Amino acid sequence: MKIYIDGKYYDRENAKISVFDHGLLYGDGVFEGIRVYHGNVFKLEDHIRRLYDSARAIALEIPMKEREMEEAVLKTVEINRKQNGYIRLVVTRGEGTLGLDPAGCEKATVIIIVGDIQLYPEELYKQGVKIITASTRRIPPECLDPRIKSLNYLNNILAKIEARRSGAREALMLTTEGLVAECTADNIFIIKSGRLLTPHPSKGALDGITMRTVFGIAKARGIECGEADLSQHDLYTSDECFMTGTGAEIVPVVDIDGRAIGDGKPGPVTSQLIEDYRKLVAV
Ligand code: PMP
Repeated sequence: MKIYIDGKYYDRENAKISVFDHGLLYGDGVFEGIRVYHGNVFKLEDHIRRLYDSARAIALEIPMKEREMEEAVLKTVEINRKQNGYIRLVVTRGEGTLGLDPAGCEKATVIIIVGDIQLYPEELYKQGVKIITASTRRIPPECLDPRIKSLNYLNNILAKIEARRSGAREALMLTTEGLVAECTADNIFIIKSGRLLTPHPSKGALDGITMRTVFGIAKARGIECGEADLSQHDLYTSDECFMTGTGAEIVPVVDIDGRAIGDGKPGPVTSQLIEDYRKLVAV
């Protein structure tokens, strides 16, 4: 495995950054998770755009142009000879002092790791997963815009811990007003009376690239799609429910807080979308 750090490649054992890097000291930085399918980097431009938007929003200057970043990602995939894998692209504020003021950080650190990911075993795509509503709420947009994919995931991690401790795979996170936001690292969708709905990103969800891709696939199938305020009640009474994310792809949700969704099995629309998504990434 060859890991890119600031323009150079290192073996895994030697891929190290400073303990004074503010990415480590304060979670000050942004990142992307990207997939490689059959040697093609999926939606690379969209991920790079989101990375640069996240960086701009936190006043972090990435020391290379978007085009150069794309090339660095492609070269790292090539060097690692990865046909199918997962890319973690991280930009931290860089090395600074022990104080949190980023003014002392001269240059951002850019890291590209090309590895593997399997968030859910294959059988769960056929059986579906159980999720619970976490008591930990999603950080409100007034505090940190959910569209910023930052290195601060602590509230999502707390929600994930809650899910695991209660025997569920994943946690549903609500906004501070009690509306549905998303899961800990995935967007959430429901299907109700033939309509596909997901919460609007401004309400507390990341503007997911998989979410946008799923909208495209669903529209091509003639399914009516939209963003809406969703409550727990809307989820409990939905016909189908699923989560989406780059790592997870599309995962059916069949139980929320002990309530079976639909007939407790992945629904026909979800199964069709999984099939369509897999075909799309395979080209
Ligand atoms: N929400 C959160 C909090 C995430 O971290 C992610 C990425 N894993 C998603 C949603 C899904 O986004 P994408 O489809 O762009 O991977």
